[in-house]
Amino acid sequence: ELDVTEYQKSLAIRVSGFDVPRPIKIFEDSGFSLQLMSAITKQGYEKPTPIQCQALPIVLSGRDIIGIAKTGSGKTAAFVLPMIVHIMDQPELEKEEGPIGVICAPTRELAHQIYLESKKFAKSHGIRVCAVYGGMSKLDQFKELKAGCEIVVATPGRLIDMLKIKALTMLRATYLVLDEADRMFDLGFEPQIRSVVGQVRPDRQTLLFSATMPRKIEKLAREILTDPVRVTVGEVG
Ligand code: ADP
Ligand code: MG
Repeated sequence: ELDVTEYQKSLAIRVSGFDVPRPIKIFEDSGFSLQLMSAITKQGYEKPTPIQCQALPIVLSGRDIIGIAKTGSGKTAAFVLPMIVHIMDQPELEKEEGPIGVICAPTRELAHQIYLESKKFAKSHGIRVCAVYGGMSKLDQFKELKAGCEIVVATPGRLIDMLKIKALTMLRATYLVLDEADRMFDLGFEPQIRSVVGQVRPDRQTLLFSATMPRKIEKLAREILTDPVRVTVGEVG
């Protein structure tokens, strides 16, 4: 039997919040469908990384989360896998429009990586992913969004542009991820982030990931998350 406290100590894992779900040891503990398990295996992911062990049960339980862990620790799958479950759980998926999962990332490159990772798991479930960042003409992006999708991966600036021209609505969005929040702040995206958050219904699930937690991010987290669980993996600044 895993001694959670000893295990967490050995990896410098700190968890705070009330009624925190226990970490998982293997992906099967998450109750993922066979279809999702096979997509995970196809990726060559044999077992969850430490941040995934902690975050997956928390996010799957519907809780908000602040995840702090360094680059390369597997944060993307920690929010993409529960997002697939969240979307598949929606009743009458086809009836409404607009993305259910909205992910904001600081740069085109990072957003593109998340887009690729999301597509790997979304495709086999018939879930459509749209990329919303520079590099594609705004007209093409408008058309793609109008065709419909369940997941949007975006940089904040371009997402605001697309919302302004009504290429999409956020009325259906219930799963919001702010990835690399510290870098988004460093790049001056705080107003855009606040605007996006303000357009997503308050009963959403909100996930915030960051490598560091400066005071400004703490403040944002307090404002936009509801009873979050905070998970820190490793010694981070
Ligand atoms: P982060 O966002 O924390 O910087 P990523 O989500 O980009 O990290 O993951 C880093 C790398 O680890 C990626 O190449 C990803 O495919 C891989 N990876 C993620 N989870 C696992 C896992 N459970 N097993 C093996 N590799 C994984
Ligand atoms: Mg990342």
